[in-house]
Amino acid sequence: MAAPAPATPQHEAPSYRLQREQGFRWLNFSPELEVAYRRAPKPMTDHQSNVALFCGLVIWLAFIGMDVIRLQDRATDLFSNPRLLTLVQVRITVLMALAGCWLALLQTDPRFKRPWVVAGMLYLLTLGGTISNDTHAALGTPHENNVLILLMVVIFLPLGLRLKEATAVAVLCLVSVLLVSLANHPEGQRESIFYRLFYLLVAACIGGMGAYLREYAQREQFLLRAELEWLARRDALTGLHNRRAFNEHLELALSVGRRDNQPVALMMIDADHFKLYNDAYGHAAGDHALQRLAEVLQSLCRRPLDHAARTGGEEMALVLYGVNATQAQGLSEQLVQRVRALALAHKASPTAEHLTVSVGCAISLPLEEGKSLYTRADALLYQAKRQGRNKAIADIDALSSSAQRPTERPV
Ligand code: GH3
Ligand code: MG
Ligand code: MG
Repeated sequence: MAAPAPATPQHEAPSYRLQREQGFRWLNFSPELEVAYRRAPKPMTDHQSNVALFCGLVIWLAFIGMDVIRLQDRATDLFSNPRLLTLVQVRITVLMALAGCWLALLQTDPRFKRPWVVAGMLYLLTLGGTISNDTHAALGTPHENNVLILLMVVIFLPLGLRLKEATAVAVLCLVSVLLVSLANHPEGQRESIFYRLFYLLVAACIGGMGAYLREYAQREQFLLRAELEWLARRDALTGLHNRRAFNEHLELALSVGRRDNQPVALMMIDADHFKLYNDAYGHAAGDHALQRLAEVLQSLCRRPLDHAARTGGEEMALVLYGVNATQAQGLSEQLVQRVRALALAHKASPTAEHLTVSVGCAISLPLEEGKSLYTRADALLYQAKRQGRNKAIADIDALSSSAQRPTERPV
């Protein structure tokens, strides 16, 4: 018989890889991945926004210091000159707002959403900076418009805002600068407003470009890391979970089962006379047969905590959550039957004309650990082997204990 062509693994390429291949030019993933990306922990973000707010506060204090130097000759006019009074009011209001935000963030007050606080800080700095600059211009004291240009770039630094949020802040700042400038410049003296906005826009574009490239790289890293984690838990040939994932999952299912008073069934599955199968049909056909077996296991996983794994060469395992002994017995017999129904010819097998499997199925006892459940299932598997293969043996002792436990699982 000609060996069947080796099949590709039956699992679909994970969505992370597809997304990476499709690209994400507009910094948007598919809806589920976008949710996962936003939920992914970003340990640096808290630190970044704290540092940003602290720096904003220090910079604002530095400008207040500059004001004291610039305006020391006019201290006596403070209450008679409305422009001076406005300047002082703006400096103090922004300072208090920044200090309040910083203290709130330091205490991790849940009412303060970080991106909003950072966006608010950037907006306050830009608005306050514009009013102060225009006031200095009107007072005839030294001032520098480039500060606003720097602020535009700062909006796009990694301070905890995503590009879309930073862009919204930049647009809001530009509109506000325009309005403040129009209010502060009488008609006929508004030519400078155009240049001011033009330079701010250029600065925003430069900052935005850097932020785009940074967020793109961050998103790509997220996809790569997720894909690597996925691969590290999968068997390359069958697409089932690997031994590492199986060990972790068994403990997880058992601990959830203990909490919810639900039994967990563990089936250990071993292909019968598989060495002879390889010898008769070749390793490529053997690989193909393993993939077909994996499909059968996968078809029995219907609940979120159900889990199919390849634990070694031609040995596989199935964890079924919320299954009592009677149901487990039915399911393990169904498994043996489904493999028979694959009708993969095995001319060298002393057991049957087709490839068969032996199954040992144990049901968790209250408070049982994974290691003990695994040992019992493995012992039952070897019992099935000794009793002639091509059969399933379920944990008879557990029938009485777990049959009493409530379970709603349909067989
Ligand atoms: P038994 O019925 O007692 O389980 O006999 P067996 O021949 O299945 O068991 P044995 O442990 O003697 O041989 C297992 C065979 O499984 C040997 C090995 O070549 C084959 N095998 C293990 N991993 C793979 C694989 O990835 N691909 C293929 N094609 N064969 C594999
Ligand atoms: Mg075997
Ligand atoms: Mg074996």
